[in-house]
Amino acid sequence: ELHNVIQELKGNIRVFCRIRPQLENRDSLSLQVSENRIALDHMSESYTFGFDRVFDTTSTQEAIFDEVDGLVQSALDGYKVCIFAYGQTGSGKTFTMQGSEGARGLIPRCLSKILQCSEAMRAAGWEWTLKVSFLEVYNEVLRDLLDNDGSNLVHVIKHDDAYGTMVTNVTSVEVKQMDHINRLMERAGKARAVGATDMNATSSRSHSIFAMYLHGVNRELQCELQGALHLVDLAGSERLDKSGSTGDRLKETQNINKSLSSLADVFLAKAEGRSHIPFRNSKLTRTQLSLA
Ligand code: ADP
Ligand code: MG
Repeated sequence: ELHNVIQELKGNIRVFCRIRPQLENRDSLSLQVSENRIALDHMSESYTFGFDRVFDTTSTQEAIFDEVDGLVQSALDGYKVCIFAYGQTGSGKTFTMQGSEGARGLIPRCLSKILQCSEAMRAAGWEWTLKVSFLEVYNEVLRDLLDNDGSNLVHVIKHDDAYGTMVTNVTSVEVKQMDHINRLMERAGKARAVGATDMNATSSRSHSIFAMYLHGVNRELQCELQGALHLVDLAGSERLDKSGSTGDRLKETQNINKSLSSLADVFLAKAEGRSHIPFRNSKLTRTQLSLA
């Protein structure tokens, strides 16, 4: 459903599909893939899905980054950019966003591009500050993955008349070098595991939001720019069986359904050009608003 809603939003919103290579020993769906369409047959029905672009199983991390490269430049130009990874557990969201050591994903690639560009723009009089935050939304509770002492995990979203909704006391760390970022990501990885018996199960049931804030000042030109780039790894979109789950699992399921449908509502409102965007219905959408 989210896919259909987003498809109605042209221009400001683009939707890409990346097809992960088959994992071993799995039945494969036979897909007909073209540059911007996927067709498949399932239970004697035919389906077609349209996208701005489809990346097939051979597409590299580099090719994915090339597609969003221009958006990093937009963030440096003072725009607020948000990239979501949506799909069921195991479909390659975290691989695409974070990647692995030999196959870096969007987060490290975007960061190195930002650091490179800000260095290059120094000659033209621009001084850039890059700050990053890393949040997780699990069961409608926000956790700060860069929190140093681990004692301040829950953050309050409050309304402020001047600024609208705000997430308060989120750790934001100024970064200048990639190796600093690598250490931060390691710290964040550990923070994600806190309180979880099975880290994989939990990460597929939480949303993570990696936020980069860019502040550029050019004294000669008396110009100031403030951009942001958010990379969001959404909780698995698989239909979670409500009837079969009880207790904590049921609560998780309801929270994921609630947040993903709130996100769809936000896109729909934007697609229809409504003046009121329903940001407030879940922590996921409220956080996006407040970080924006
Ligand atoms: P998700 O975050 O959507 O649950 P993952 O990113 O963890 O899924 O991917 C599941 C598995 O598939 C991981 O072992 C990951 O390394 C692998 N994988 C995902 N996408 C690709 C890809 N494009 N190429 C190679 N391996 C991939
Ligand atoms: Mg994942």
